[in-house]
Amino acid sequence: QGKTFGRATVRFFNEALDRQIESRSRIEAALRQGLEQNRLFVHFQPIVDLASGRIAAFEALARLTDPELGSISPLLFIEAAEHTGLILKLSDHLLRLACETARQWPQEVHLSFNLSPRQLRDPMLVRRLLAILTEAGFPPQRLELEVTESGMISDADGAEDVLRSLRAEGIRIAIDDFGAGYSSFARLSRFAFERIKIDRSFVNGLGSEHRAEPVLASVIHLIDALGSISLAEGIETQAQLDWLRAHGCRFGQGYLLGRPEPAESTLARLRAQRPD
Ligand code: C2E
Ligand code: MG
Ligand code: MG
Ligand code: MG
Repeated sequence: QGKTFGRATVRFFNEALDRQIESRSRIEAALRQGLEQNRLFVHFQPIVDLASGRIAAFEALARLTDPELGSISPLLFIEAAEHTGLILKLSDHLLRLACETARQWPQEVHLSFNLSPRQLRDPMLVRRLLAILTEAGFPPQRLELEVTESGMISDADGAEDVLRSLRAEGIRIAIDDFGAGYSSFARLSRFAFERIKIDRSFVNGLGSEHRAEPVLASVIHLIDALGSISLAEGIETQAQLDWLRAHGCRFGQGYLLGRPEPAESTLARLRAQRPD
């Protein structure tokens, strides 16, 4: 009986694996077509200064809608892009779109853009990025690049050198999803990130896990002590927002403050914000 069960289990896993491989190659195909047929876009999610309530920046987030598969999560197609090497081309396209939009925003609003781990290993990265900024007429001083810790694991020294040359051009560097990976603290002592984006799992825990508060409060203190700027991701409730504000978190992002939206409504959103 155990044997039968074993075989059935193996078959089940094989089928699941086949389905996984199949869906992966469908996503890769959708990505290639999307690139060719100009179906890749960016939405913009506001980053809010928690003390003043004002929009300080927008994070550009990639969007792909396939005629058959519908809207595909960036987690899936970015992974496919990394896997196939299409990420470099894709990222250039997205940054160009994002900069062309952001150029129309009032001067003080920044653009935040995600870099994927593979890009940190591209020896041409700095040149590629600067060429796009120049072409789009977007000043590097208004750009912030978000990197994750996973991007810095394989070759930390190399990655840090790349980040330093980007910084030398005036670009700011943020660490994304802080606390969701490992070796977070070691990373912080090695590189001075301008901004530290606290992973939304911490914010999620507020109000449900009783140890979430002391952990989050300490993380905010730590970021202050490092001379970096804190940003909490995934704020969904007023209670979370109030707590973060009361505990000195500087910036926030999340559905409560604004969902990612297309370029046109983003501009409208900014125009509706009264001038300083
Ligand atoms: P991320 O950089 O951490 O971006 C934040 C993600 O959290 C976005 O998901 C955003 O829509 C979502 N989010 C924002 N506020 C809330 C909230 O209150 N609650 C919840 N549950 N989620 C919230 P999205 O757009 O699906 O993107 C997922 C990830 O895909 C991003 O995570 C980023 O790692 C990657 N990604 C997206 N666009 C790009 C891109 O242009 N380049 C690269 N390399 N990666 C990208
Ligand atoms: Mg991000
Ligand atoms: Mg994040
Ligand atoms: Mg992420």
